[in-house]
Amino acid sequence: MGKLFVISGSSGVGKGTLLKLFLNKHPEFKLSVSCTTRKPREGEVHGENYFFLSQEEFETLIKKDEFLEWAEFSGNMYGTQKAYVERKLAEGNNLILELDTTGALNVKKIMPEACLIFILPPSFEELEARLRGRHTETEEAIQKRLNSVKIEIERSKAFDFKVVNDDLDRALKELETVMCT
Ligand code: 5GP
Repeated sequence: MGKLFVISGSSGVGKGTLLKLFLNKHPEFKLSVSCTTRKPREGEVHGENYFFLSQEEFETLIKKDEFLEWAEFSGNMYGTQKAYVERKLAEGNNLILELDTTGALNVKKIMPEACLIFILPPSFEELEARLRGRHTETEEAIQKRLNSVKIEIERSKAFDFKVVNDDLDRALKELETVMCT
C-alpha cells in the first residue's frame, strides 16, 4: 500500500519546480491525475495531465459521490476521484495530490492518514516581489493573489508539515526528509 501526500502552496512559491525535481528523483512517487471540465491546452493529453470531462459527466460523478474532493476555479470544475486514489495506493504507488488548501483539508477529513505539506515562500515580501517580477498582471490581480496567499497561509496551520522554499536544493532535501523517511 502506498502513502498519500497532498501538497499545497500559493502561486509564485516555486511549488511546481520543486515538485518536478522531486518526481524526477523519486519515480516511486506519482502525481495524481485530476478530472476537469476545462478544455485541454495545447499539448495536454487525456489521462496524463487531466481526465478531460464534459460538464454533464462531471456532474454525474458528483451525484454518485465519486469525488474525494472537488472545486470550481474560474468557471471550470476540478476534482480527484476516490476510486482512482484508492487504486493507485493499492498498486503500491506513493501518490501526490497537488491541491489548494481547501481541497487538502477536505481530503484529510476523509483520509486522515494523508500527509499534508504546505510550501511557503521565504517571506511574504519576497513572494510579493516574485509576483510583481513576472510583469504579467495588473495591480488589482496582484492584490487579489496576495490576499488569497494570506488566507492560504492561515489555513496551512492545520497542515502536517511546512517547507520553506528559500533555496531549491535545501527545500528539496527537506521535502525528501518528510516524504521518504
Ligand atoms: P489549471 O487549469 O491551470 O490546470 O488549474 C487550475 C487550478 O485547479 C490550479 O490551482 C490547480 O491546483 C487546481 N486543481 C487541479 N486539479 C484539482 C483537483 O483535483 N482538485 C482541486 N480542488 N483543485 C485542482
